[in-house]
Amino acid sequence: MREGSLDAPVRHPINWNDPEFYDEALLDEELRRVFDICHGCRRCFNLCDSFPRLFDLIDESESGELDTVSSADFKPVVDACTLCDMCFMTKCPYVPPHEFNLDFPHLMLRYRAVEKKKGEDKFVPRQLAKTDRNGNMAKHVAPIANWASNRKNGLTRGIMESTLGIHKDAALPPYHSKTLLDRARDNVLTVNPDAPAHGRKAVIYATCFGNYNNPGIGEATRKVLARNGVETEVVYPGCCGMPLLEQGDLKAVADNADKVSAELAGWIDKGYDIIALVSSCALMLKFEWPLIVPGNPAVEKLSKATYDVAEYLVDIAKKEGLAGGMQPLDGAVSMHLACHARAQNMGAKGAELLRLIPETRVAVVERCSGHGGSWGIMKDNFETAIKVGTPAARTSLKSGAAYFASECPLAAEHLLQGMEKLDSDGAESRKALHPIELVAAAYGLTD
Ligand code: SF4
Ligand code: SF4
Repeated sequence: MREGSLDAPVRHPINWNDPEFYDEALLDEELRRVFDICHGCRRCFNLCDSFPRLFDLIDESESGELDTVSSADFKPVVDACTLCDMCFMTKCPYVPPHEFNLDFPHLMLRYRAVEKKKGEDKFVPRQLAKTDRNGNMAKHVAPIANWASNRKNGLTRGIMESTLGIHKDAALPPYHSKTLLDRARDNVLTVNPDAPAHGRKAVIYATCFGNYNNPGIGEATRKVLARNGVETEVVYPGCCGMPLLEQGDLKAVADNADKVSAELAGWIDKGYDIIALVSSCALMLKFEWPLIVPGNPAVEKLSKATYDVAEYLVDIAKKEGLAGGMQPLDGAVSMHLACHARAQNMGAKGAELLRLIPETRVAVVERCSGHGGSWGIMKDNFETAIKVGTPAARTSLKSGAAYFASECPLAAEHLLQGMEKLDSDGAESRKALHPIELVAAAYGLTD
């Protein structure tokens, strides 16, 4: 729930095709307009590192006002934004339809799009954003790739830090020789014909992370849905483009949106719902793509048909009822509500889902993990990312939970690293899970 306004926030299409979008004088004017409003407001002081950087910049200037701050000093403010959307979604009373028309994250995005246009985007994040190319290459050498990227490997990680700028302590997601698509092809599941939701059909949009880095989330989703009578297909036409969005590469995001929506729209026409395995990707399909390629009918159709995983299971629970057979977990769950799940404005569906497991205590953590995709693994940002996520990590630890879950697998891993810094003793035994994996465990569907 957003503070201070009764009107639901609306977002305007992003005019990335308009030459004025890249006009640096106009961008500076808008940055100064928005920063001045934020300076007078300061509600967002503790959401991330962008706002403290902005407020320090202004407070330490000659006049203590924005007029004596050089625009050249704005970049660190922009660089600290992870596009988590929390200022827009939960704090800002000045978002449209308010006349101030303030959309802080999309202004940061515009700044990066201008940098991209000028060729000032950074090489390594640009390469990391090519998730399909990277995943397709790494799956053929997964054991070697995982050996090299393991943060216990001081040799390779030291080289990666000095040559690529990836912080040597940042956990990097592993790769698998068999992707989720491979596994779904090899493992046909029998759908429970007696479940109340029998007759539903859903496409599991694998997402790049779910396909290459953590196929276990998709496998758990398939099994839970099959137990609930839902016929599924795993489909993956390509990445949603969130990592490209972080780089301000709006043309590439638009291309991905056109391609993926064209394929998924065909499934929607055949009566399938669409489930995105990762919250950031669901956010892209539901909300960002329609703003980046407005007027594309396939994108519009997909936006309305897409569910986050937990949202879909809760929908089944409410409408038809879940299939019986879940057993209590042997401990409480600390459930982190990821920013990109919260930004979908759907309620705390991950926590709602876990509370459907009998006798399970769920302790909710609502603070940002601080990860921010590829942003948080870079040498320049990792310490900040850990600092931003420390309150959430501390709350998770204090809950005394046996399980740590988040709808964002990257956020969950990052939180584990924050917990490790606070309490290194229990680090080995802690594992990050998606809530659907705990539901699969409660059904006894884990291997
Ligand atoms: S989108 Fe998130 S990281 Fe960016 S300024 Fe807003 S709260 Fe901070
Ligand atoms: S984004 Fe909105 S709520 Fe946050 S500091 Fe700026 S004006 Fe205030």
